[in-house]
Amino acid sequence: MLSLSTKIEELNKVGPAYLKRLRQLKIETIRDLFFHFPHRYDDFRRIEPISQLKLNQKAVVQGVISKINSRRTWQKRMSLTEAIVEDKNGSLRIVWFNQPYLEKTLKKGQTVNLAGKIVSDKEGLYLANPAYEIIRPGQEFTHTGRLVPVYHQTSGLTSRYLRFLIKPLLYLSRQIADFLPETIKKEFQLIDLNQAIEQVHFPKNLASAEKARHRLAFNELFLIQLNLLKEKEKLDQSQSKAIPFNQELIKSFVEQLPFQLTDDQRKAAWQIFQDLAKDKPMNRLLNGDVGSGKTIVALLAALETAQAGYQTALMAPTEVLAEQHFETFKNLLKKEKVKIGLLTGSHKTKIDKKTNIFIGTHALIQKNVNFGKLALAIVDEQHRFGVLQRAALQKNIHQPHFLSMSATPIPRSLALTIYGDLDISILKEMPKGRRKIITKIVQPTERKAAYNFIKKQVQEKKQVFVICPLIDQSDKLAVKSVSQEYEKLSKKIFPELKIAMLHGKLKADEKESIMKNFKARKIDILVATSVIEVGIDVPNATVMMIEGADRFGLAQLHQFRGRIGRGQDQSYCFLFTESAGTKTNQRLQALLKAKDGFALAEKDLEIRGPGDFSGSRQWGLPDLTMASLGDLELIQKSRQAAKQVLEKKLAENILTKAII
Ligand code: ADP
Ligand code: MG
Repeated sequence: MLSLSTKIEELNKVGPAYLKRLRQLKIETIRDLFFHFPHRYDDFRRIEPISQLKLNQKAVVQGVISKINSRRTWQKRMSLTEAIVEDKNGSLRIVWFNQPYLEKTLKKGQTVNLAGKIVSDKEGLYLANPAYEIIRPGQEFTHTGRLVPVYHQTSGLTSRYLRFLIKPLLYLSRQIADFLPETIKKEFQLIDLNQAIEQVHFPKNLASAEKARHRLAFNELFLIQLNLLKEKEKLDQSQSKAIPFNQELIKSFVEQLPFQLTDDQRKAAWQIFQDLAKDKPMNRLLNGDVGSGKTIVALLAALETAQAGYQTALMAPTEVLAEQHFETFKNLLKKEKVKIGLLTGSHKTKIDKKTNIFIGTHALIQKNVNFGKLALAIVDEQHRFGVLQRAALQKNIHQPHFLSMSATPIPRSLALTIYGDLDISILKEMPKGRRKIITKIVQPTERKAAYNFIKKQVQEKKQVFVICPLIDQSDKLAVKSVSQEYEKLSKKIFPELKIAMLHGKLKADEKESIMKNFKARKIDILVATSVIEVGIDVPNATVMMIEGADRFGLAQLHQFRGRIGRGQDQSYCFLFTESAGTKTNQRLQALLKAKDGFALAEKDLEIRGPGDFSGSRQWGLPDLTMASLGDLELIQKSRQAAKQVLEKKLAENILTKAII
C-alpha cells in the first residue's frame, strides 16, 4: 500500500538513474515529491482546429495519426520521426528530433493530443517536437489539453517525467494533514493544504492554481515567522542587565570627540541607550551605508556598558577589521577607565575579569572566554550571525543585549522576515564635509594617465589602494594578482614610492604591522586582495584602483569604494576591466550612477534578474520556493497568523505536524 511516506525507490517508475536524480533534489518520499512544485503552467486547454493554425502559434491539436515513421538523417547524424495527424477539416505534419522510440509508442490509427509550436519549412507548416498524449476513453489529460505544470529542469529531470510520476499518485495528497487550524484558514482565506497540493500540480483553472500558490507561499512564510516568534518569546522571557543611561558620562565624552556626531548618529545612539536601560534584551540592527560612521555609535554603547560595570563583546568578520576596531577603541577611549582586550584566531592580548570590552573575530565564541558579566554583544558586518552564536555568548542566565551593524541595505520586508521583531536604526546622513567619490571606468589606453594621477596624489601626501582579484599569478587566467602587481608597481612604475602588499596568506602580525604602517602613512600604496573589503578605515586614502573589476560583484565593488572618501578630501575610484560583456558594463555603469548603497542594491537585483531575487540563502534563510520576500502583504499576514497561533499556544503542535 502506498502512502505519503513510501520511499520513491519503491515506485515502478523510479529506476536507479531517476532515483539518483530525484535524490539530488532531496526527494526521498512521495510526500517530498508532492512538495516539489512547478514554477509555471503551459496553457494547453484549447484544442485548435488544424485548418486554423498559424505560424509561430503555441497550440494543441487533436487528431488521428494517419502515418508515422522514423529515419536517420546521415548528414546531420540524428533521427527524425515524422507523422501526419488529421482532424475533421485538415491534416498536419509533425516532426520529432532524436526520439526514435516514438515510433513504437505512437501508432497509426491512434487518436492523440499534440501540444507545441507551429513552425514552417519549404513544405509548409508543421508542429515541431510537440508533447503528445494518446487519448483513451474516460482518461484525464496529463501533458496536453489542460493547464500543464512545468517544473524547473534540474538534475536531468524533465517536466514530462515528473508529471508522469506525480499525476497517478496525487490521490494520496488527501492523506496530508493540514497543520493550520480552521480558524486561521478561514480568516486568511486559505484553501486546505491537500487541495493546494493537488491544485498546484494539476490545477483545474488559473484561479485555483493561484489559490494553491497563495496557500503554499503562506506556508513558507508562516513557518519562518512562527519559529522567529517562538524565539522572540524566549528572548522576551529572558532577562538582561539594565544599563541606566549615564547622561553626564556620554555628554562629556561626545564633547571631546574629534568630530561632531551627525543627527542620525545621535538618534541611533539614543535609541540604543533606551534599549539598554531595559531589563529585556535589545535586538537592534544599525544600518548605514559604508562610511556613515557606525563604529562610534557602537563605541558609545560599549562605553556606557563598561561604566555600568558590565562587559561588551564586539565581533568582526576578519582579523584585519577586528584589529582596526581594537586600535580605534583604544585610541578614542584612552582617557576613560576602560580595559579593552583583543582576541582573534592568531592574536590575544591580556584578558581577565577586569576587561570591559572584548574585540575579536569568531574566536570570541570559539575559545572559551569567560564572559562573567557580558551584557552587550555587538556584531559588525555579519548577516548570518544568528541564534546559535547568540546562545554561545550567553554563558550565564542573562541574555546579552544584541546589536548588529551592517552596510548592506536591507529592505524592510526582508528585515521583517529574517529578524522578526528586530528594531532598526538607520544612519542616512553622512558625516559633514564628505565629497562624492569620482568613479571612472579606465580604458587600457588611459592606464598611464591613471598612474600619473596616482603619483600626483601621493606627492600631495595622499594614499592609494590597489585591489587585485588574486594573490598569486595563475597560469591559466589572465587575471591580475597582488604579487605580480606589487612587483610591477614597485620596480617599474613607482620605484620611488613606498609600496606594500596585503593578503590573506600573510601571517597575522605581518598583516597587522602593514595596516599600522599604512595608517601611520609610512606606506603610500597598498596592493591588496579583498581582505580589505569590509570595514577598513583609513581616511587619508583617496584613490581606490580596482583591477579586474568585472570579477567582483556590485555589492563588493561598493564596499571597496567605501574604503575611500572617508575624510574631507576628494577621492577617486578607478575601475579596470578585462572583459567588455554587456552585463559587466551594466554593473559598472550602475556603480557610476547609483547615488547610494540602497539604490545600488536595487539595481543589482534588477541586473541579476528574478532568478536571484529572493537571495534567501545569502541571509541564512531556508529556500523559499513559492513565496517572494518582496511580498510585504503576505509576510505581514503570515506574521499575524503566527502571532495568533502562538497566543493560543498551538505553536508546538503545528510545528511538529508541519515537519512530518
Ligand atoms: P562605517 O559606517 O562604514 O563602519 P566608520 O564607523 O568606520 O564607518 O566611520 C568612517 C569614518 O568616519 C571614520 O574615520 C570615522 O572616524 C569617521 N566619522 C564617524 N563619524 C563621524 C562624524 N560624525 N564626523 C566626521 N567623521 C566621522
Ligand atoms: Mg564599519
